[in-house]
Amino acid sequence: MTEKVFIIGGMSCAACSASVERVTNRIDGVSRSSVNLTTSKMNVIFDGTKETEEKIITAVQKAGFTISEEQKEEITVKPNKEDNTKAPIITSFILCALLLYVSMGTMMIDWLPIPPIFHHKNYPYNFAILQMLLTIPIMFIGRKFFINGFRSLFLLHPNMDSLVAIGSTASFLYSLYITFTIPLSPNSIIHELYFESAAVVLTFIMLGKFLENRNKEKTKDTIKKLMSLSPDTAVVFENETEITVKTSELKIDDIVIIKPGAKIPTDCVVIKGESSVDESMLTGESIPVNKKADDNLTGGSINCDGVLYAKVKSIGEDTTLHKIIKIVEDAQGKKAPIAKIADKVAGVFVPTVIAIAIVTAIVWIIVSGDYSLTLKAFVSVLVIACPCALGLATPTAIMVGTGLGASNGILIKSGEALERANNTKVIVFDKTGTLTKGKMTVDNIFCNTEKNQFLNQLAAVESLSEHPVAKAVCEYADEQNIKFEHDFADFKNISGKGLYALALNGDEYFCGNERLLNENNISTEEFQFEAEKSLSEGKTIVYLSKNGKALGFVSISDTLREESKEVISKLKQMDIKTVMLTGDNRSSAEYIGNQLAIDEIFSQVLPSEKADVVEKLKEQGTVMMVGDGINDSPALATADIGTAVSNGSDIAIESADIVLMNSDLNCVLKSVILSKLTIRNIKQNLFWAFLYNCIGIPIAAGLLYPFFGILLNPMFAGIAMSLSSVCVVGNALRLKTKKLDKVR
Ligand code: ADP
Ligand code: MG
Repeated sequence: MTEKVFIIGGMSCAACSASVERVTNRIDGVSRSSVNLTTSKMNVIFDGTKETEEKIITAVQKAGFTISEEQKEEITVKPNKEDNTKAPIITSFILCALLLYVSMGTMMIDWLPIPPIFHHKNYPYNFAILQMLLTIPIMFIGRKFFINGFRSLFLLHPNMDSLVAIGSTASFLYSLYITFTIPLSPNSIIHELYFESAAVVLTFIMLGKFLENRNKEKTKDTIKKLMSLSPDTAVVFENETEITVKTSELKIDDIVIIKPGAKIPTDCVVIKGESSVDESMLTGESIPVNKKADDNLTGGSINCDGVLYAKVKSIGEDTTLHKIIKIVEDAQGKKAPIAKIADKVAGVFVPTVIAIAIVTAIVWIIVSGDYSLTLKAFVSVLVIACPCALGLATPTAIMVGTGLGASNGILIKSGEALERANNTKVIVFDKTGTLTKGKMTVDNIFCNTEKNQFLNQLAAVESLSEHPVAKAVCEYADEQNIKFEHDFADFKNISGKGLYALALNGDEYFCGNERLLNENNISTEEFQFEAEKSLSEGKTIVYLSKNGKALGFVSISDTLREESKEVISKLKQMDIKTVMLTGDNRSSAEYIGNQLAIDEIFSQVLPSEKADVVEKLKEQGTVMMVGDGINDSPALATADIGTAVSNGSDIAIESADIVLMNSDLNCVLKSVILSKLTIRNIKQNLFWAFLYNCIGIPIAAGLLYPFFGILLNPMFAGIAMSLSSVCVVGNALRLKTKKLDKVR
């Protein structure tokens, strides 16, 4: 199975995207196809064969749409070509105003001036022709609705345009018929002209589409902002001179100079200089970060004060900024499950509405026998119904929500993850590096041999490992000026426990926790008293044994993140259970857990067992796992929502659904709040869209007429319809301004 993204052209509403989905899902070999109306993207999972791909393309074309492959190379925001010019709308409005003045104004208010030859009393025929002449240009300006609408109607995939087209054509043709019968019975019949409703409906729907598209563009702001972060040029330092080049021409290992106030052109590593760098647009972290030699710089961040010399590490698609944009774009292109109901409804919406309109017309003609009222009801039903509002409800909110996340340093990989996070009941935190800073330091040594020699051997073994514990040991040995380079004949990493190493002279070393030594029949009893004391203070203990005999241990401490405690208590207030998961010793885990007042602690869990613990916790509800994504991958993948805390350089973490761009734990809280706000927004949108149609259609059909004598003028139906989708997009945009510190 392969996944491919296509760009679909010519879709105007949710009925269109639904019919593209329908025709493609029907093809053998396609396992799932989903179309996003807002981004015009179709994600297809299919068997990958050329035949199937061709079938997909023909099916889409047959349904009346264009299809093209997504351009992989560069990410560009395609400006919405349709409906972004104001001139036609302004022209329509002027014509419409004139038309309303003539048709309604002069008819109702006698003294309004009008050239006598168009006066409805004396020249009813001219009066009607004038209205027709004002309507025709508006219909020409809105011809797209007729072309698209009738074409898709004849292809049996009617969409919103079809509704508009049928509605306004009916008004126009009826009025045309009336116009020709005027000479027979002038005064009684001019009240039945409905040119203005065809014109007003078209004008307002054009306006609605225009506003909707402009607002939809606004939902893409985050991506545009991210893309603008990368500067166009960079200053390269070559042969002792500074040359300005295009950022796209940079090569790996080029040396760039970044002056104060300049943007970092691409991901690089500092070789000279010191400065503070503002990474807030990438990580959401507002405090500038200090950078000195060997520190990584992320393209797109801003150098604040000093001059930095840096070596280019990655360019183009491999840069962090590019990956962020890709993740956000991908997430926005995918659908959230909550959209399913709306999509289902949208798929059958238009035919249903046409059927309701026809039934309405039949009932009216039988009951009243009045053609004019019948037409009014028929047209009103067609133009008040709006599948657009339904189709836009979810994707627009997801666009804004994921964008808001990105600007807070929270990358959400799919709408589905965003939706699931809304129901989070349990959050499992990895201890080291997540709840704690992960910056470990050695603070005590107990050994039964000479101290320096003990440290030398321990550091030599630990130098083989990348574990934070190992790093702490080596750093400490360095500080004590102890040389610890050794060659080993054999070496094994015993995951979650420690290391085994065989020296060239045959000496066997074990280095790790108590469990590792005891499992290898090495007693640690000698150190038990001191060890327990350290453990009860929340420290991690690393023993070293040589040839079956324990030599001693170092105790290592890690500091809690300042915000951990507050985040845990805020999560509890949101009725979310907090759990700590660690490979560390029970008593040291408990010490930390108690400090944080965490609900449950799982200690001495091997990395391979972490996923099982998560699986078990899922019985209690939706589980989010927060970890560093390196050795927690299986647990992250097992959880309903895997949240990886990234150090900013590795964001393409496969197993995670959410990637946090900075290690501030508040982001965990923020991602849950973001999800709640977004899903609430979607529900509001869906509720209003459904309610609008459920109330609008019966009123348009004239259900209130028998009781209150109210029959909707098709003009107002058209205005209501265009307002409904504008409202939905507007509501989604409201999300943009939300702060993520509380669900309000
Ligand atoms: P965590 O869940 O806290 O990330 P790990 O599963 O990575 O912990 O490791 C669990 C325990 O195994 C550590 O607390 C440490 O005692 C021991 N350990 C793991 N790797 C090493 C190592 N390279 N050197 C010493 N001890 C280690
Ligand atoms: Mg870990």
